[in-house]
Amino acid sequence: MNTAPDIKKEDRRESYRDSVATITKDGRRNYINPKKPKGRFYNLRTRFSIFYLVVFFTLPFIKVNGEPLLMLNILERKFIIFGLIFWPQDFFIFGIAMLTFIVFVILFTVVFGRIFCGWACPQTIFMEMVFRKIEYWIDGDATKQKQLIAMPWNSEKIRKRVVKFIAFFSIAFIIANFFLAYLISMDELIDHIKNPTANLGTLISLLIFTTIFFFVYWWFREQVCIVVCPYGRLQGVLLDKNSILVAYDYNRGEPRGKYTKEQKEEKHDCKCTDCKGTGACNDLADKFTTMFPPKGDCIDCNACVRVCPTGIDIRNGTQLECVNCTACIDACDDIMVSINKPKGLVRYASENSIKDGVQLKFTSRIKAYTAVLCLLLTLLTFLILSRTDLDARLMRTSGMTYSSLPDGRIANLYNLKLANKTHKDIPFTLRLEDVAGEITPVGSGKLIVPKEDYTNLQFFIKLNRSDVKGWKKIITVGLYENGKILKTIEAKFIGPEVYE
Ligand code: SF4
Ligand code: SF4
Repeated sequence: MNTAPDIKKEDRRESYRDSVATITKDGRRNYINPKKPKGRFYNLRTRFSIFYLVVFFTLPFIKVNGEPLLMLNILERKFIIFGLIFWPQDFFIFGIAMLTFIVFVILFTVVFGRIFCGWACPQTIFMEMVFRKIEYWIDGDATKQKQLIAMPWNSEKIRKRVVKFIAFFSIAFIIANFFLAYLISMDELIDHIKNPTANLGTLISLLIFTTIFFFVYWWFREQVCIVVCPYGRLQGVLLDKNSILVAYDYNRGEPRGKYTKEQKEEKHDCKCTDCKGTGACNDLADKFTTMFPPKGDCIDCNACVRVCPTGIDIRNGTQLECVNCTACIDACDDIMVSINKPKGLVRYASENSIKDGVQLKFTSRIKAYTAVLCLLLTLLTFLILSRTDLDARLMRTSGMTYSSLPDGRIANLYNLKLANKTHKDIPFTLRLEDVAGEITPVGSGKLIVPKEDYTNLQFFIKLNRSDVKGWKKIITVGLYENGKILKTIEAKFIGPEVYE
């Protein structure tokens, strides 16, 4: 989606569509060396990133009742989210939660554009706030980096490359460990690391993850956002003219033009706050306008382009490559201050607010997404609150009919499958709730469901003939823990069709 009209030169206006900044004319990778950003947004993002990194590296160590606070064990289909264990039986809750999350992301994107990418996406945080900072520290700023790339393999280049390789690989290895800890829990990971020969799978996974992370942050970089990330691909359909994005105010900036030496020298010493030193006030206005035909505020310095980690020119309008990292806002603000113009030529704004000065509107699209989100949130809350710690499935044993006992009673054989979603063992007893009769488990052993595990139990239910009035009867079985009812389950009881 491009929105910036009236950009001075025709070729410049449209030619950017013909190429991708990160690919050279001959189809090779154009490695971007963005200038180090500085400014209020960059500082704020650095603080946010420190917070996220602390959370990321701390969460796997936090436990609730001996279990991790967060674990997403995809292989064993076991998920612990804020201490709550979710099993495959809870898959519909998980599905609704995912759906709610997706609608939330859509709504958030419709209103705030790609703010997530710039401020909270792990890829951007690790790339821009960890690896890129280390790169600036080792290789220097953009110019020095380019010089290093161009220079032959001398001792300086070899030293810097080796140091950078070790730093990047070590951090990739640490990230891979924590990534794995989120999948199998930190305790398990430490166990596996202590005994690597018995857990070769973990070791291989660690090496694979480390290599992937290293490859991404050493070489692939912004290509993740531009080529791989599905969220990035969706921007074209999610954003509209009311979405708030990092945008260039073309009304204010165009026609752009170089800031001339004469212009600099002509700054008058007016102390008023209206013209901010531009000379466009009072008696100097005529003189100034005659000398310098009116120009937009953009002085075509390219500072915003030089800091862009995806190599784009934000003045061309909203582009899919833009991850809303705010580096261009900081760069342009810096320039505006230096030429005594107000900040915000590049800023967070919607197309409509730039074009017509219209502020954010609660459009019917936003209303519809909000309504769907509220419905899903209500459903999700209900499902979570009504979710039980013990799942029970009771069925008559398939292929078996009833049996008549010598004492005249009728017996049915049942299978009970129990899933314990808590962190403690649950001992239980069974009782018939609405009919007199007897429950006789098959085999001996304690009736107990181990923590975070399943148990299967077979038992007979024996009823008096007089209590079975037809060929089929619905009975209710109660599950008790220390005399306290946990839940009731209904089951079918069959008997002979006709009774005397
Ligand atoms: S930094 Fe600002 S003034 Fe310089 S080219 Fe970009 S938009 Fe124009
Ligand atoms: S144009 Fe580039 S620098 Fe500006 S927000 Fe987008 S990605 Fe960042």
